[in-house]
Amino acid sequence: MTNNNIYFVANWKMYGNSRTLRAIKNIKKLSKSKKFYKAKIIYCPPYTLLEQFANKVKNTNIMIGAQNCHYKIDYGPSTGFISAKMIKDTGSKFVIIGHSESRKEGDTDNKINLKIKTALKSNLKVIFCIGESLKEKKNNKTTLVLRKQIFNGLKNIKDLKNILIAYEPIWSIGTGVLPEINNLKLQVQKIRKILKNIFKNQNYKILYGGSVSPNNINKLSKIDIIDGFLIGGASQNEKKFIDIIKKTIN
Ligand code: PEP
Repeated sequence: MTNNNIYFVANWKMYGNSRTLRAIKNIKKLSKSKKFYKAKIIYCPPYTLLEQFANKVKNTNIMIGAQNCHYKIDYGPSTGFISAKMIKDTGSKFVIIGHSESRKEGDTDNKINLKIKTALKSNLKVIFCIGESLKEKKNNKTTLVLRKQIFNGLKNIKDLKNILIAYEPIWSIGTGVLPEINNLKLQVQKIRKILKNIFKNQNYKILYGGSVSPNNINKLSKIDIIDGFLIGGASQNEKKFIDIIKKTIN
């Protein structure tokens, strides 16, 4: 891992209810321990739990984020949607934008770009997801796809200070399949190069996401150009999530 802060983003997807929320007692304890001061833990539960969650982690270092937001700022006649400003109002500090599961539901590069701008204007930090499909990987299109997602998603954005990039190969999400470590390193290096071309000498934070678990974290945490992980399935189990953090920061 890098020597800086290490991010552990828990994406609960469309899981969780007020009962599940009780199961974060031990992680609250861990977040207060000096040994784990470098761990930046961000829980991204469904919208319905944001406020409850934010209240529950008050006085800890744990932060809360949403899993998406609308592309318009503030309030308006958009039935069934939630704006970045509303998310901010729950006590959340982050929002995931561009997750492949949201792209599948209609989030285009253009909408993602508007969402990122809206989120930043509302003083939320953004976890911007990029990643190629299996077909794109097989056709050697990975770099092309990542470049397009980065260029379009970050169009007219000047500063990466409040944006974390999460590289999530779609074929690895929820499948138990991990990229080969050297290939993953190579891909992250390429992403850094693409970012450097656009943003020059800024400080980029790049996370990896896709089937991260206590069984493979030792391998992944040796990659020194990664700043943390976006974790889906394993983050819904407190014991597994803690195990991942402890094995990364030992
Ligand atoms: C995700 O939801 O972004 C993710 C990486 O899921 P999983 O860890 O289950 O593959």
